[in-house]
Amino acid sequence: MIRPEDRLRAAGLRVTRPRVAVLSVLDDAQRTHEHLVVAQVADRVRARIGKVSTQGVYDCLEALTRIGAVRRLDLPGSGSRYESRVGDNHHHVTCRSCGVVSDLDCATGSAPCLTPDDTHGFVLDEAEIVFWGLCAACASAPDDHPLGQSHGQSHGQSHGRPSDLRTDSDRTSTTSTGRTTP
Ligand SMILES: [Zn+2]
Ligand SMILES: [Zn+2]
Repeated sequence: MIRPEDRLRAAGLRVTRPRVAVLSVLDDAQRTHEHLVVAQVADRVRARIGKVSTQGVYDCLEALTRIGAVRRLDLPGSGSRYESRVGDNHHHVTCRSCGVVSDLDCATGSAPCLTPDDTHGFVLDEAEIVFWGLCAACASAPDDHPLGQSHGQSHGQSHGRPSDLRTDSDRTSTTSTGRTTP
């Protein structure tokens, strides 16, 4: 993987400690297959370089997203999540119950690996797909989540911690089953 400093320079972005730290944190998270919300990025950045405001980290993330070094994933009902795995058109699967997010490689063919009936004149080069379901842990523990009683009510409301589950699931959320952003 190219060093954060070099990715910043290649994109013409000034190399600053917070930006380097944010990219390093996301690179580490990529190795453990995590998609982090701003607060998680901020915690880990502070663990590396000390005092940085959450707003400062957010500004870094937005700047890095603009240059394409970071990808932002906006899930309905959940905060934005960020990752440094970019440019490979990978998709995501998220658990309705605990909110965990995993990467899915392109299923078939080349990007966008989907063939819409009508592109309305758009020249497509990317598809952002979110698959929804239950992760293996939640699927094998049906008593631990309220999905059976409130089917489809708990989309993306939690942040991956089972302890969030009960409060999060009480809220009503979107009932869409995915989205496509051409
Ligand atoms: Zn789960
Ligand atoms: Zn991803």
